[in-house]
Amino acid sequence: MILVDLELKMLADQHGHLCPNLAIGWRVGLLARQYMANNGAITAECLSCALDALRAMGPWKIKVDPIKGRHLYRLLPDKGQLLVLEVPLDFAWPGEDLINLEERLSRCEATPEEMAAYQVLIDKQVSRILTASDADLFACEKLNNPHL
Ligand SMILES: [Zn+2]
Repeated sequence: MILVDLELKMLADQHGHLCPNLAIGWRVGLLARQYMANNGAITAECLSCALDALRAMGPWKIKVDPIKGRHLYRLLPDKGQLLVLEVPLDFAWPGEDLINLEERLSRCEATPEEMAAYQVLIDKQVSRILTASDADLFACEKLNNPHL
């Protein structure tokens, strides 16, 4: 069990679980609040867990591009530069151990020890995401706003 911000706890309750993708979506939402306040749009290429966080965190218009197995977000404020955020694979990729355990869980083949190991890996990845600096978690690029 890990301790998390109350807002993330509420998002996890709504989402059904606390997972790395929800944590990434929450971190993107925090950055979007700082960067755009409540004015702007987000284009996201990500998994639905991250979208659940973003949709609950702001009134932004969110357009979802086809998922390409990564976390790529474009924050388009009503005024100001377009901010492109990409989460490095080191944070976005769950790793072979986690994927293998997830497959065993989905087939109801996991032992109690494997279920516990799975939760430990999830908690470890969520903790890494929550404790990373913005500079480590996001590769950022500012571009001219195509709408100005
Ligand atoms: Zn999830």
